Amino acid sequence: MIIYIDMDDVLCNFSGEHAKALAKNPSITFPQSQYGFYQKLPPLEGAIETMKELYLSNEYTPYILTAPSTRNPFSYTEKRVWVEERLGYSFVERLIICPNKGLLKGDILVDDNNSGRGQEHFEGKLIHFGTSQFPNWAAVRQNLNLKNK
Ligand SMILES: [Mg+2]
Repeated sequence: MIIYIDMDDVLCNFSGEHAKALAKNPSITFPQSQYGFYQKLPPLEGAIETMKELYLSNEYTPYILTAPSTRNPFSYTEKRVWVEERLGYSFVERLIICPNKGLLKGDILVDDNNSGRGQEHFEGKLIHFGTSQFPNWAAVRQNLNLKNK
């Protein structure tokens, strides 16, 4: 099964760092457009371990599917660097940066948004991350039949 995993607020804590940056320096309205913002995002708990496990599983073929911050050219490079630093080069070859997620063929999409970047046109199943049904990676792992540790 092809499974796509979103980056911001699924693999990495975008909202948390965004709120922190705004609190620290309110005059910078779009902290995400600052050089280094994307590269420094901390991973969410359980995300890295689950990606590595999915990579090795016989059942799933994981890809990272992230929409770019189109007004921020750094975001493209920084997402690529983040993936290599946190997940290794094998996942760089599984990184898709695409503004319309509905164009991709696959079985499952794990995303914190169910619309806006083509998620509403994705033909497979949506695991809506961050909702009461899938609040965290432990819940997603259970749904994917991966053992919780
Ligand atoms: Mg997201």
